[in-house]
Amino acid sequence: MPLPAMSVNCWQEAETTNVAKDYYALLGVRSDASPEEIKRAYRKKARDLHPDVNPEPDAQEKFREVAAAYEVLRDPEKRRIVDLGGDPLDPRTGGGGGDPFAGGFAGFSDIMDAFFGGAGAARGPRGRSRPGADALIRLDLELAETAFGTTKDLTVDTAVLCDVCSGAGTAPGTTPQTCDTCDGRGEVQSVQRSFLGQVMTARICPTCGGAGEVIRTPCPECAGDGRVRARRQVSVKIPAGVEDGMRIRLSGQGEVGAGGGPPGDLYVEVHERPHDVFTRDGDNLHCRVTLPMTAAALGTSVTLTTLDGEEDIDIRAGTQSGARKTLRARGVPHLRGVGRGDLVVHVEVSTPTKLDPEQERLLRELAKLRDEERPASNKAGGNGLFSRMRDAFNGR
Ligand SMILES: [Zn+2]
Ligand SMILES: [Zn+2]
Repeated sequence: MPLPAMSVNCWQEAETTNVAKDYYALLGVRSDASPEEIKRAYRKKARDLHPDVNPEPDAQEKFREVAAAYEVLRDPEKRRIVDLGGDPLDPRTGGGGGDPFAGGFAGFSDIMDAFFGGAGAARGPRGRSRPGADALIRLDLELAETAFGTTKDLTVDTAVLCDVCSGAGTAPGTTPQTCDTCDGRGEVQSVQRSFLGQVMTARICPTCGGAGEVIRTPCPECAGDGRVRARRQVSVKIPAGVEDGMRIRLSGQGEVGAGGGPPGDLYVEVHERPHDVFTRDGDNLHCRVTLPMTAAALGTSVTLTTLDGEEDIDIRAGTQSGARKTLRARGVPHLRGVGRGDLVVHVEVSTPTKLDPEQERLLRELAKLRDEERPASNKAGGNGLFSRMRDAFNGR
């Protein structure tokens, strides 16, 4: 049956259900591994994947897989089924029983007990305080500020610790009370009968949200949240060379968490205002200088505005439109390391318009002297780009 077009993940899931699992690969051992090697490999994997130490979201799922692989490979009878190409946990390929939790697989729950303090057992209240969220603020800067760095005072509006209750959420002189619904455990348990026997399930207490305690007299300032919104001034140092879109992190300056939880970070996102004269490309700056035809022909000196002030540059006689002149280290300082980018000046030659009779007479005289009264158009000859292409084409 062709697989429908799905994401890679879906496809892998389909594969795991249809093909016998490679239990050796799950433990990272060879198929001739000794029982001792299998045990060692399992211990190492279990330690690495334990959800209390491994923050990866799929750590718990991987941990279960590794535990299942160990259960199979440590049992000589189940290992024999694997070696014959079957899956002892899959009833369709020679597995002993349809229910992995029945019979010989009881060891799995022993392992879960060892790591989680008993499957389904209460894990205790989880406390009311939660870590706070990160905050983002946008900062518009001029080119001179991003180039050379600056210090800015920002007005930030975030949740801060409530100074009436210091984050506890209780009215002064009162304390939280043990939750009646869960007796302070933070979880409520229920027992369900199923064909496997009694199954105990635990869920977060709906009354206290898992905290194990309730606030009957909330703080009047923060209504029990432990935090209030406030405006404050934050000073941020902008390093020289930052670019548009970069974010500067101010650790611990974000939102304070519920119940007085630790604050998140504040990110300041740099936005560089477009400049009248310069266009920025990384650490290089570009600008345009327009020259009259006569100045381009005769050569001249122009006064240029740079980030560092005014500077005179020489224009050689005979400068063409489109010519570039690079001023080394007149661009933006490098954010990391030393040195600066360049300032690239793009020259544009303007053709004079609105000639008065005297100017026209002079130009006609010049044209005559240079034999330019009827200049070449697109006729053949010369060694321009086009004629070189044509020659290449004709094999000349
Ligand atoms: Zn308060
Ligand atoms: Zn409760």
